[in-house]
Amino acid sequence: MVVTITIMPKDSKQKKAILSVLRRTTSHPSADWIYEEVRKVIPNISLGTVYRNLNVLKENGIILELSLAGASSRYDANCEDHYHFRCIKCGRVSDVDEPVNYALDEKLADNTDYRILGHRLEFYGFCPDCGRCNG
Ligand code: ZN
Ligand code: MN
Repeated sequence: MVVTITIMPKDSKQKKAILSVLRRTTSHPSADWIYEEVRKVIPNISLGTVYRNLNVLKENGIILELSLAGASSRYDANCEDHYHFRCIKCGRVSDVDEPVNYALDEKLADNTDYRILGHRLEFYGFCPDCGRCNG
């Protein structure tokens, strides 16, 4: 399959700005937060453009979109396999220092007909700031 992508200079400038905002944070920001940051560099950029570029970056495997039903998507410039924790009170999303359990992929591949490429895992609960007394 041959995919031809035509990128106009304006698009690539916007994409670069979005990517550099995302690469200098470890906070797994929302599209709204990214939009506010990118506006400091490109004041006339629209939220729609930010979403469109985030989607292109995601489809090209350059960034990750972390989506959980009922919560807003968060974005991550770190595409290495790793797990996340999301606080259900303040919404903070953090990397978790827990090695990826590849045995789980093998187990599922052995027990099903699925061809497993990987898995995503997001823990949720209360972060230390929110969880002292059940929030
Ligand atoms: Zn919290
Ligand atoms: Mn992450």
